[in-house]
Amino acid sequence: MGKVLNDLSVTPNLLKAEVLRHLTFTLGKDTPNASLYDWRMALSFAIRDRIVEPWFASTRRTWAEDRKRVYYLSMEFLIGRLLEDACVNLGLREMAEEVMAEFGQDFRAIIEDEPDAALGNGGLGRLAACFMESMATLGCPAYGYGIRYEHGLFRQRFEGGQQVETPEDWLLMRHPWEFERPESQYTIGFKGEMATRDGREVWVPGETVLATAHDTPVVGWQGKWANTLRLWGAKPTTLFDLERFNRGDFAAAAEPEALARTLSRVLYPDDTTYQGKELRLKQEFFLTSAALQDILRRFKAAHSDVRKLPNHVAIQMNDTHPAIAGPELIRLLMDDHGVPFEEAAPIARECLGYTNHTLLPEALERWATFTFGNVLPRHMQIVERIDAWHKDENYHRPHYIGIVKHHEVRMGELAFIMAHKVNGVSALHSELVKKNLFPELNKLHPGRIINQTNGVTPRRWLKMCNRPLSSLITETIGPGWEDDLDRLTALEPHISEKGFRALFDSAKRTNKIALSHWIKDHCGLTVSPDALFDVQVKRIHEYKRQLLNILETIAHWHQIKAAPKGNWVPRVKIFGGKSAPGYFVAKEIIHLINDVARVVNADPETRHLLTVVYPANYNVSMAEHLIPAADLSEQISTAGKEASGTGNMKFMMNGAPTIGTLDGANVEILEQVGAENFFLFGLTAEEVMRRREDPEHSRKAIEASQPLQDVLQMIAEGRFSPDQPDRYHGLVHRVWHHDYFLVASDFDAYHAAQAQVDIAFADRDRWLRMAAMNTARSGFFSSDRTIRSYMKDIWSVTSAL
Ligand SMILES: *Cc1c(COP(=O)(O)O)cnc(C)c1O
Repeated sequence: MGKVLNDLSVTPNLLKAEVLRHLTFTLGKDTPNASLYDWRMALSFAIRDRIVEPWFASTRRTWAEDRKRVYYLSMEFLIGRLLEDACVNLGLREMAEEVMAEFGQDFRAIIEDEPDAALGNGGLGRLAACFMESMATLGCPAYGYGIRYEHGLFRQRFEGGQQVETPEDWLLMRHPWEFERPESQYTIGFKGEMATRDGREVWVPGETVLATAHDTPVVGWQGKWANTLRLWGAKPTTLFDLERFNRGDFAAAAEPEALARTLSRVLYPDDTTYQGKELRLKQEFFLTSAALQDILRRFKAAHSDVRKLPNHVAIQMNDTHPAIAGPELIRLLMDDHGVPFEEAAPIARECLGYTNHTLLPEALERWATFTFGNVLPRHMQIVERIDAWHKDENYHRPHYIGIVKHHEVRMGELAFIMAHKVNGVSALHSELVKKNLFPELNKLHPGRIINQTNGVTPRRWLKMCNRPLSSLITETIGPGWEDDLDRLTALEPHISEKGFRALFDSAKRTNKIALSHWIKDHCGLTVSPDALFDVQVKRIHEYKRQLLNILETIAHWHQIKAAPKGNWVPRVKIFGGKSAPGYFVAKEIIHLINDVARVVNADPETRHLLTVVYPANYNVSMAEHLIPAADLSEQISTAGKEASGTGNMKFMMNGAPTIGTLDGANVEILEQVGAENFFLFGLTAEEVMRRREDPEHSRKAIEASQPLQDVLQMIAEGRFSPDQPDRYHGLVHRVWHHDYFLVASDFDAYHAAQAQVDIAFADRDRWLRMAAMNTARSGFFSSDRTIRSYMKDIWSVTSAL
């Protein structure tokens, strides 16, 4: 069984011939006229061909062995580019480089020509993408189900320092990785009413659309296994109302088409607050219903008794976005298969798992019963039935617990009740889910909430994005660490060797030089690779506290100016990230960072000691450029607010120590790497809660800190906004009087921790030991470890390899 499915014996000549064949016959171009795009397509198709074989073999084996499959339902898949990733996993990167060079083409330029598939906002969507890759690597038979948004996350530009959003167009050019499946389509209904037929209640939808499948193969490390990412596009059920058109009613004639097109048109660009928009509910149901119909069709092709579904099907809900899966699966079992509710509900629960991603109350989905009942009348009935069923089964249930309360359908409760396992995404977060989010349900169902600490795939986030360090690792401990990341601990004994540290230093320096060029090209700024590269890249949000970082940056600048001849460690402060379009406070922080950058970068007195860089449009491929060059990883959220973080893990793997709070997976990073290799500061989650009880907490903190007072004074006086001195009055006022995320209370501790960073960095040898220890101890954060754990604890699925 353990045999490699894919024959990787492709030679350079064969690959070259295949690229040429695709250029000629798929693209219809000859070499003198081929553009960069044509070459990219030709290479992508040639590489894709190599994936098809293991893909078919995996599918065949899953059928032949009648294996249980995992279905990962997610509204977001933040995939990024695919070409280099596929080359790396097939072991063809060097060969592809060589072959393209023989055609006179630069492999790097081809890679960079690919647009990011940005079908997600941030961490949650990127996690889904890492999980897909790890499931393929581990030979876990799986499908990812998502929506094929025409427009992924918006593109970000800065105008006068302010964020401006423009639409993103990843499908404008041909997408070479997917296979359209016009034969795989399902009807999805909305609205309408309940009717009685043959004594049974049936749902007669008022609107329908078709969901059509687009399959992208996801190949694992060394091409041993490949799974499918199936994205649904929406199409009208009736193409066009010709009769209305002929009557001259052109708009009405196009109505069915308009509804369908809007369904898979855009990704909602907000991941931390929830808006009760009808279109969003329709998108969630569209994905979920199409996936479940597909799952049942596949099941029925091999089995006849739907009561056996849980033996063959594990469905994971990535957050509550697909939580309608509970009622929808019950509906399909009842209405299409004649299973009574009392049997259908436990079957559905046995199949379903729910991953919680946030404790932020404003991010928890709740639908007005009016909207929910209007869009999904049959599901409204079923939800009420689930609620009654759960109450009957748990007669101790307090009256205030339930799915439908205060004219709202609470999706968190629904997902919890309909899942046999509920998981948090870091040790701390899972405890807070038990204690603060679902305390009563946890009491009713002890053991249902478990922890699955997130991870990231080391193929993309180390092997692919950091070639200097990957080569050094392989030279030092041999190959095989890529799918067995705990082996990185074998680096530890080498860290005490001066020679190894010099090589580690030189790998990081290579990356920093490359990033300096990139910064010059993208931001027009000159930075020295000798400076400390201090990086905070993630969505802009108050709880992530980019504000704390920029305030401390100002304090640091102020300090340097007071003693310009001092022995300062030169720093480059790098920010990256997008704000939700309607999130005013986050946009104000972006504006402030850019305003501070403009003033600080123009200061001749400090220019060689401090630069602030904020390249626009942070996305996966920018992360791949920045993270390998980082010296310091900023993970400074208000404790208790960041569920896990995964950016923190990418930095750790790439040898960047963390400055951070005891929050999310930082806790476990600290545990792995040891306090001497981590810059810990700030209030703990419990201290945060207690601190907030003092209504004067921010004023007191500011009055106790001269540096913070000075910083706020400078901002309030318009030092960074001379064109509009009162621009940040609101912001400064909020820090003084509101400050829910405790920026002021953590400021001094953060400022002191940054001073410790400077001291450590100035001691080159000490710093290198810290950095290398971070890489050596990062094995735990491979998403392979996470997926193995889901397979065992939630899905009861074994590897097919
Ligand atoms: C990893 C990643 C994230 C998540 O970062 P956090 O720091 O965990 O919030 C967000 N966006 C992109 C593009 C990423 O690659």
